[in-house]
Amino acid sequence: MRGARLRGSWRGISSALLFSTLFLLACDAGPTGSGQALVGVTVIDGLGNPPLKNQVVWIEDGRIAAIESAETWQAPRGVQLVKLPGRFVMPGLIDMHAHVTILPIDDNGALVNTMDRAASKQVLATLLAFGITTVRNPAAPAEDAIALRDQVAAGDLLGPRIVTAGDALNRTAATFGPFVATPDETTVRHEIQRQAALGVDAIKVYSTLSPELIAVAIDEAHRLDKPVIGHLQRTTWTEAAELGIDAITHSAPWSRAYLPADAQEGYRGTLRDRLTWLESVDFDGPAIQGMIAALAEHKIVVDPTLIATQTKFFGDDPRHTNNPELHLAPELCRDIWQRHSFVGDWTPDDFARAHAAWPRVLELTKKMYEGGVLLTAGSDLPNPWVIPGVSLHQELQLLAKAGIPPLEVLKIATHNAAVALGLDADLGSVEVGKIADLVVLATDPTVLLKNTRAISQVFQGGRFIDPSAVLSSLE
Ligand SMILES: [Zn+2]
Repeated sequence: MRGARLRGSWRGISSALLFSTLFLLACDAGPTGSGQALVGVTVIDGLGNPPLKNQVVWIEDGRIAAIESAETWQAPRGVQLVKLPGRFVMPGLIDMHAHVTILPIDDNGALVNTMDRAASKQVLATLLAFGITTVRNPAAPAEDAIALRDQVAAGDLLGPRIVTAGDALNRTAATFGPFVATPDETTVRHEIQRQAALGVDAIKVYSTLSPELIAVAIDEAHRLDKPVIGHLQRTTWTEAAELGIDAITHSAPWSRAYLPADAQEGYRGTLRDRLTWLESVDFDGPAIQGMIAALAEHKIVVDPTLIATQTKFFGDDPRHTNNPELHLAPELCRDIWQRHSFVGDWTPDDFARAHAAWPRVLELTKKMYEGGVLLTAGSDLPNPWVIPGVSLHQELQLLAKAGIPPLEVLKIATHNAAVALGLDADLGSVEVGKIADLVVLATDPTVLLKNTRAISQVFQGGRFIDPSAVLSSLE
């Protein structure tokens, strides 16, 4: 990999110079190359820089070998030219919260902790067709998740590159999903050692763990060189930031400690109580302002998964429950969503409160953005009505709706994610030397963010993927 990168950079940096001299010396024996050059495209680099028009992006050996003006670039012999005038090239998207190991449910409605291979395969291919070239799987049965990751890496399965955690550590094992009970220091350390030995990339800690056990988990995981991702509630985001956690998921902390004293009474922290939390919390008070400062200061990455909250708060809304793109989700998922939506017991009054509270969720995201917190984009598929592929594009639109400019949203979903994964030397931007994970768009996403859906081509490690062919093969 390193060799390929160095060679790619060398060609990119020096090709213009080489050309001007070699061309004069030996017209017939000009430099040769291989791979493909996308000619005439506008480059959106994923770093937040203004788009560059009429460029050539030369892909060779799976990496970006050169980015130059189409007016002055001279193609080395052997390079295949792909003329794409008026098209836009951006980095492959990264879904930082995609449970790609799809789990079935048993007769009692409890998730079975063994993945359904056919559904998982369908989800992976769908994500790639939607321009998602990397995912973080933030909790899954560890063995299944590792096997899936390795099959994609080996080229045996079509899908985004996978970075995976194993079963989530919680005080008690829940009755659903990939959770493992770690009620004390010994069990926390043993479970992290077990998962690390299996080969997970990260450790996931869950909502009922105390700050003391979160501290133990961080200590053990970091000792084994694994980052820690938290879906937290009992432990506040402020506490976790100060303890040195690496990443936090979901829209808000929902911890009682952030509420004014009178609202803390009777607050149990249920899903419905999130409405009370949003109605009572003061975003400009010292508790939340302190949280944002702590997240920024300790460089904790927050992945708001807004679409996973919106689909719950609007779980009564046909735009989700009757989404015309529902067919893109495996039948297994659609069946589970119909029967277990998390908000099945909500009354019309609850939904009315949820709709009214929803803008507060976006407001908190904006405050974290403005406060310098490194944000990423994630969908939390397959939560109810969170459709594989479609949902990350919805997430981008929600980030924009929160008030984040389109170029910054694109950076959040590409470069920021690569930084958060520690993979920014290879991924997350259109730059010479980077792995050629690219999305080609027919229309400009920086003018209208929903144009991220106008995907004509996807490249993964320089390999061409035809999105419509992939999707039609799944039907
Ligand atoms: Zn999740």
